[in-house]
Amino acid sequence: MTQGNNIEIKRAACYQCWWQCGVKVHVKDKTDIIKMEGDKDNALGGRGRLCVKNSAAIDFHQSPNRLNYPMKRVGKRGEYKWQRLSWDQALDEIADKLSAIKKAYGPEALAIIGGTQHGVADWASWRFANMFGTPNIFHQGKNCGEAEFLAMCLVYGYTTRSMGGGARAGLTKCIINWGANLAESGHLGFANIIRTKEKGAKLVVIDPRRTKTVEQADIWVQLRPGTDGALALGMMNVIIGEDLYDKDFVNKWCVGFDKLKELAKSWTPQRVAEITRVPAETIIEVARLYTKSKPAHLTWGVATCQLGQGDKGAVKSAVLGKCILRAITGNLAVTGGEPFTDHPYILNWIDNIKWDLLLDHPDRTRDNVSAAEYPVASVKGYRMFREAMAKVYPKGFGAAHYMVFPSSWAMWRAVLEGQPYPLKAICTQGSNTLVNVSDTPKTYKAFKSPNLDLHFAMDLIMQPTASLADYVLPAADWMERPNLRTDWGFSNVYQCTEAAVEPLYERRDDYWMWAQLAKRLGMEQEWPATLEGMFDLLLKGTGLTFAQHLDKNLEAQFSFGSGTTEDRLYERTGFATSSGKVELFPSLLENLGYDPSCDYAEPPRSPDATPELAEEYPLILISGSRVKEFWHSSYRDMEKLRRIYPKPRLEIHPENAQPLGIKDGDPVYIETPEGKIKQWAKVDPGMMRGVVHADGYWWFPEMPATEPCLFGVWESNINSITPGDPATFDYAGDNNFRALLCKVYKAEE
Ligand code: SF4
Repeated sequence: MTQGNNIEIKRAACYQCWWQCGVKVHVKDKTDIIKMEGDKDNALGGRGRLCVKNSAAIDFHQSPNRLNYPMKRVGKRGEYKWQRLSWDQALDEIADKLSAIKKAYGPEALAIIGGTQHGVADWASWRFANMFGTPNIFHQGKNCGEAEFLAMCLVYGYTTRSMGGGARAGLTKCIINWGANLAESGHLGFANIIRTKEKGAKLVVIDPRRTKTVEQADIWVQLRPGTDGALALGMMNVIIGEDLYDKDFVNKWCVGFDKLKELAKSWTPQRVAEITRVPAETIIEVARLYTKSKPAHLTWGVATCQLGQGDKGAVKSAVLGKCILRAITGNLAVTGGEPFTDHPYILNWIDNIKWDLLLDHPDRTRDNVSAAEYPVASVKGYRMFREAMAKVYPKGFGAAHYMVFPSSWAMWRAVLEGQPYPLKAICTQGSNTLVNVSDTPKTYKAFKSPNLDLHFAMDLIMQPTASLADYVLPAADWMERPNLRTDWGFSNVYQCTEAAVEPLYERRDDYWMWAQLAKRLGMEQEWPATLEGMFDLLLKGTGLTFAQHLDKNLEAQFSFGSGTTEDRLYERTGFATSSGKVELFPSLLENLGYDPSCDYAEPPRSPDATPELAEEYPLILISGSRVKEFWHSSYRDMEKLRRIYPKPRLEIHPENAQPLGIKDGDPVYIETPEGKIKQWAKVDPGMMRGVVHADGYWWFPEMPATEPCLFGVWESNINSITPGDPATFDYAGDNNFRALLCKVYKAEE
């Protein structure tokens, strides 16, 4: 769309975070981005709503901190001495090293660690990994929703549109927002929840903190962190005990109900109240409301995926419990309740991303580095998911591939100890791994280790993890590349949007980097030369090219599938599980050697599980909740956002702060058995007594890049004091960020 004064309006998708809101970018003389506004015609992208992060997008595009040229390390790792080199030379050298590593150690010796900033390149790196033959693909999902997505596929063979998107205004009668602060982390899902509430739905929010989402709640369930599984069992006790479950659905479509009934019997509201600190009356009220107000929608939440501890742990109990509640109340595959995401057949996702090769690559002989510890998140597990789902979808349901990530601690073991086999090369792609996964000291050791023969990073700005790399490659931002929204192949939603400008300097889109490496490694025939060419391949099933889709966009015809299956699809096909039914004690989990029960266990560290530890570390620590100004570790260099949110905050209840002499704004130390860091107190009566919340993902771009400072990565980064002990990780190998113990005391400014 062209306007006067050489100004064009480009219809793009913001990727300052993954929601991809529709945005009109005003571009002068084809190069200068002068303004942004929400695109009201973009139905999938929020109809014009933009958040505060977008206000910094133009600054980010032009920032002096941006990486603009490929660079190679010339000093030791961490000395921060770089030499500029051409893309060709960088890619030639990286490809030569990858080739030699593959030959000497096998393809599994490469791990690709993906972050959140790259949009389109998520799938490009997975595609490369599958074709190269490595199962060691680590992705932000390991820090996010994997544990619950796994549980959904285990229990009912699908995932639901569960980030508030499943609610339908005028239809949904009840929403339980469980473990997510969507007001800060997902403004589109939150807007949908508010719309639905305004049309009469009741909103229950389960969270230990009084968040902006909680402020909208009809009922606030303030539970002790880590006890979500007990709460789910308490609700089941009421629902089953009072005969409130959907008998027709349960009789016809659930296996294991008698066993569940037996299990739930002992989880009385009174017993659960003692564990969770939620009054028994509230547990009963919520259970009744949820059951009697159909259709009802129960959200997915990051928090319930980050509670820790092995097979019998808090996470497994919480996420299986949530899935079971959705099922026995008859809300599955129902519009306004829990609509199932549909198979991403339009983009032919499974074939195009080469997931078959993950199973049967001729050069691959080993599973990922933590397959023995967490078989549910492994190639072996993936194969079993596909077999279980085959009756409904011959190659498995779309989300099944989202489960093969190795655990972070096991990657560091593979680098440092060569167990179960050596990991010799790592690509960090938009990932500031040092602040994003637990146990920063061990992560740091791995990235500094002489055992690691190659570390190449592709990123938008220099940050602590990239600064330890051997090669740093400059990535294009979302304004500089077209976008095909794919939502990680979870459903059939897609959307085409255009680049606003050509990339500045030598920034390149991530797909291009993978295609160039593939070409050098003998895989060029599978990789179209440009991102648009790859989009054409992905869109082949639509009968239109990417460019033709953009033309449709110009007529305000954005292109996307419905994203959900028909209601009660299972009546025609059965569920995509081994039995074809909802499995309340998933057989797949049992076949992989796990206890398939949702029975509750305490988090690894808690006042009940480890009372001696709690004597020294008396406060329950949660960390890493999303804030709307930042996206994980991104944008700490954006002045506009730092003015709003200058320092990391520790939220603490006044009754806990006062005896420690801590006032609002005071610097404080947060100490765990792993060490201490500094943040600034936010004394907040909305916090649960005895619980503190520390901000996650902090580093300081304004501090020196050189060691030992490393952009202040040891100052306030909560993950430098979260545990790397494997016993604290959950059944899928996910980090424990949300149910720990600490002490807090005043620090010097
Ligand atoms: S939520 Fe904000 S940052 Fe994320 S895509 Fe939308 S406008 Fe951009």
